[in-house]
Amino acid sequence: MAPPPKPDLFARLRKPLEYAGGLSPERLSRIPDLGANLISILGSASIEHRRFDDFKKLCVGLDGLSGRDRASRVADLVRLLDLMEKGPQKSAESESAGRGLDEKSLADSWKRMASGAQYVKGVGPRLAEKLSRLGIVTVEDLLFHLPSRYEDRRDVTEIRGLEPGEKAAVIAEIMALGASERRGVGRMFHMALADGTGVMTLAWFRYSGDWLETRFKKGDRVIASGKVTSFRGELAMNHPEVERLDEDDDFSSSPGVLPVYPLTEGVHQKTMRKIVANALEAHGEGFPETLPPALIQKRGLPDIGSALRLVHAPPEDADIDDYNRSRSAAHERLAYEELFYLQLGLALRRRDAVEEPARPVRPDNDLAARFRASLPFALTEDQERTGSEILGDMAKRGAMHRLLQGDVGSGKTVVAMLAAAAAVGSGGQAAVMAPTEILAEQLFRVARETLEGLGVRVELLTGSVKGRKREEVYDDIASGLVQVVVGTHAVIQEKVKFKALTLGIVDEQHRFGVVQRARLKDKGEDGITPHLLVMTATPIPRTLAMTVYGDLAVSVIRKPPPGRKPIETSVVRENDRARVYDEVRREVKKGGQAYVVYPLVEESEKLELRDAESMAEFFTETFPDLKVGLIHGKMKPEEKDEAMRGFKSRRLDVLVATTVIEVGIDAPNASLMVIEHAERFGLSQLHQLRGRVGRGQRRSRCFLIAGWTRSDDSWRRLKVMEKTADGFRIAEEDLAFRGPGEFFGSRQSGLPDFRVANIIRDAEVLSRAREDAFLLARDDPGLSQPEHRFMRAVLKKKWGRRLRLGRVG
Ligand code: ADP
Ligand code: MG
Repeated sequence: MAPPPKPDLFARLRKPLEYAGGLSPERLSRIPDLGANLISILGSASIEHRRFDDFKKLCVGLDGLSGRDRASRVADLVRLLDLMEKGPQKSAESESAGRGLDEKSLADSWKRMASGAQYVKGVGPRLAEKLSRLGIVTVEDLLFHLPSRYEDRRDVTEIRGLEPGEKAAVIAEIMALGASERRGVGRMFHMALADGTGVMTLAWFRYSGDWLETRFKKGDRVIASGKVTSFRGELAMNHPEVERLDEDDDFSSSPGVLPVYPLTEGVHQKTMRKIVANALEAHGEGFPETLPPALIQKRGLPDIGSALRLVHAPPEDADIDDYNRSRSAAHERLAYEELFYLQLGLALRRRDAVEEPARPVRPDNDLAARFRASLPFALTEDQERTGSEILGDMAKRGAMHRLLQGDVGSGKTVVAMLAAAAAVGSGGQAAVMAPTEILAEQLFRVARETLEGLGVRVELLTGSVKGRKREEVYDDIASGLVQVVVGTHAVIQEKVKFKALTLGIVDEQHRFGVVQRARLKDKGEDGITPHLLVMTATPIPRTLAMTVYGDLAVSVIRKPPPGRKPIETSVVRENDRARVYDEVRREVKKGGQAYVVYPLVEESEKLELRDAESMAEFFTETFPDLKVGLIHGKMKPEEKDEAMRGFKSRRLDVLVATTVIEVGIDAPNASLMVIEHAERFGLSQLHQLRGRVGRGQRRSRCFLIAGWTRSDDSWRRLKVMEKTADGFRIAEEDLAFRGPGEFFGSRQSGLPDFRVANIIRDAEVLSRAREDAFLLARDDPGLSQPEHRFMRAVLKKKWGRRLRLGRVG
């Protein structure tokens, strides 16, 4: 343990603080360098003590605050000083008094929970081996192996005891099953069940597909539940719930609501139930509670021990629907905890960011003003508003951390360039980072067009900038000659050293993770953090934004610049293809241009490549009178550039493409888009793609061709595209249909993996957790109050690496 700090240090810290604490907020605001002075007192003492770190952290942002914020910060500091002065012994005592939540016992409990699953009763080394295939390695993993659903056996009756009109469940064997067609009724599916006491029929009307015959076969033992009716004098259930029972399932001994667990080969349901129950018995009550009592009380949550018990063994009166939708009190408590700590981490990170010293930028500096004056159009209202939000942030001493959200073509780039101009105008540099070379080049062109005329030196830095040129760019960035650098992740490589990076801009953020964002922020000189502006064209549903961008302030452009025409969208079937091709020809004859887009199949890029290529050939043959080009991700940058340029300059009529055109191409004459296999794309992606047309004066259309394997669901999903042009609505639909994991099209989205929570289902839990976490972070940003101290350890364990919460705890 570090030696106790000298008493006179406390006195030296206390003096200015108590003086400041006695002032009105207004007078307090006029005291210069209070924080800086405190830091210098601390610095000369050079003590290692966790509280001192907190203290220092609170001092760092102090001078940037004003009015009430400043006064409450001073009060925080005084409180912290009191705690420090009381000394480690006394405070340790008062901290553990009455709560089991001290860090030491937490660490001990976690150690127990981290012991191997094989030490649970009933699990030997061989079973442990199998369990590991399910990701179950520790006791904790086993406790958190939650049921995928629940089986209600409370109403199980013998068939002979069934009464029409009542709700019931039976356990019986399938004697026969099959689909049939009936005039006037349509297709039906029947199952005949018998349980030794009687027979009954299960019926499904308007049956389509084959999901029942693929899931069940004659001889299966099932549990069927639903409302009992009679059908031609026989007992029946229409559209019941049916589940197959495990062969070893001894239903007679287990009434009530039973958990049904995800399994792996060689592990039976019965075994899983038993070992989870054993783990619960041995460790359930000892599982450490990591929510503070105040929140448990405020939200009326079950404690962790009860939650774990209830989630695995629902009570006799459990609401089966709640359980099956993971909405029971136990589920919500577990989800809440997960979301609460994520939000707490984000809240603290946001506070950290605000306190990171940045170079303030004068929003109305000469270059920013000249930039505005040089634009060929007036900024829209939304651009003005978001622009001043951004410049307002940049005027502060604390680093900006902001997300600029807006549909494709909504005019984000201009706003970003304005921010860059302001940064350069105040003597700094700006870096713009895009996920692909094409997009980087496009941004580079815009940056050059808008800024070079004002005397700003702009350079490109991507993988294709090589050799001497690259070295030159490095040098000129380091010397400050290059004021704006636009590039791919090449911009954040080790070798790139800035002279005075003031602003970092990240476009299409969802392709970058939190880590890249952080790396860009590390590019400032010592002690200075660049302001950070993140841009995305993916309209992000609120719940998702709260999770992925929860630490960013948000600016939204809703209305596009004037002159953008709506894109008429039609979903068509495969057999309309010929008609669609006719439209392509007609459009070209009328002076327009068309894109034909293929899905990028991630797992088999070769296949995708052949598809796009053969389609280009096919088009060349089908339309000998049209000039057809091809662009895809596997082409060299020069080739891509060539194709793009050709299309833009109208040397090409039709561009066959993969999703590389999703970002980057701005060809105002393009007026028709055909998207093949549209069902393979996310709606948001389709929306982004179609945003490539409708950029000029022509009436624009988009045909979505739905492939052979379409199900009703995907057809309905695509129909959303016809109805709305609102990117946010589309995103909500997309999220609801595809789930958060797939929403971004890949797993590298920075979206956390939850064990229990699901941000769609638990949207309300998320809001509550966020509210609680942000309140807590506001009141105790250093988590230094005795009753919050343990949270640092929890945060570190749960999200530490994922969120780069280096400065927390
Ligand atoms: P985003 O980056 O949001 O997709 P862009 O910034 O590329 O959108 O803007 C799309 C097009 O609209 C560009 O051609 C741009 O020059 C133009 N534009 C942007 N702002 C305005 C405005 N206020 N008035 C007219 N045109 C605008
Ligand atoms: Mg853009």
